[in-house]
Amino acid sequence: MEKEFSIGGQIIAPGEHRIVHLVVAKLYDFTEVSLPVEVKRGKSPGPTLFISSTIHGDEINGIEIIRRLLTYKPLKKLCGTLITIPVVNIFGFNTLSRYLPDRRDLNRSFPGSSKGSMAAQLANLFTVEILDKCTHGIDLHTGAIHRTNLPQIRGFIGDRDTKNLAFQFGVPVIINANSRDGSLRAEAHKKNIPILLYEGGEALRHDEHVIRMGVNGIKAVMRAIGMLPSKPQPTRPETFISEKTVWVRAPSAGILTSGKPLGAHVEAKENLGFIRDPFGKHNVPVRANVGGIVIGKTQLPLVNKGDALFHIATFINTHKVKKTLDKLNSLEK
Ligand SMILES: [Zn+2]
Repeated sequence: MEKEFSIGGQIIAPGEHRIVHLVVAKLYDFTEVSLPVEVKRGKSPGPTLFISSTIHGDEINGIEIIRRLLTYKPLKKLCGTLITIPVVNIFGFNTLSRYLPDRRDLNRSFPGSSKGSMAAQLANLFTVEILDKCTHGIDLHTGAIHRTNLPQIRGFIGDRDTKNLAFQFGVPVIINANSRDGSLRAEAHKKNIPILLYEGGEALRHDEHVIRMGVNGIKAVMRAIGMLPSKPQPTRPETFISEKTVWVRAPSAGILTSGKPLGAHVEAKENLGFIRDPFGKHNVPVRANVGGIVIGKTQLPLVNKGDALFHIATFINTHKVKKTLDKLNSLEK
């Protein structure tokens, strides 16, 4: 017999699925705000996986990833429990903001506390009601405002289970990243819950390529851990781990012109673009500080000196990574 599963004081039986509203707070006018969570329990036992999105309120690709995942017919044969939380930062989401009304970053507020700030209370609710009940997690993000990211997995690859999940997800680029203190990922890691952070695209935008890779990645992970029936898979792209990423910052203020797209292979010292004044009298070259693959970039050409412009990931064999990314792009077209 599978253990009893309860959330928000409600018991959910095997084979049942339900949307539960976890009460978070009251607004100034006493309107109650709740966190909607969908729990889907398979008839057979298995892992308990949470998929969360929009911890940063303006990162919306993950909501669409979850919506599409939940229409997937083989979920009828689900083993274990799937918990989806499409909008974790309900406050930021409704005001198109990364943060909470108290200007705190929810993803720096874990594990939180029931007596702390608004962010701390929401983080605590997530930790107690969701994280502590799960065996695995996937947290969905995009680049911050005015920044876009190549689809990528971030995880603590030193952990064998996390590494296996990362390879199963099947995006070519994996960043072996220690998590930041106070993040959901750091908290999960402390509790020995393998967790992947999938990110791609830009804040406040849908990105079809990123969404599709996200949906497929989650399905692949769910098959690998026995939550979905396995089926023959088309050959997936090869996966590469980057141990180090570096930001190229603006050497001057001005207007950036650049033709380097996400996924571009750049050499150290290569020219990535120019920063110009409006009359074109000054042309300051922006040079790569390392060789690698562009995994993130600014979308806003107006830059201050020191602004982060290009995020470059280094690899042992950059040519191979580039070849895999190009192949994937041509399949998409
Ligand atoms: Zn984020």
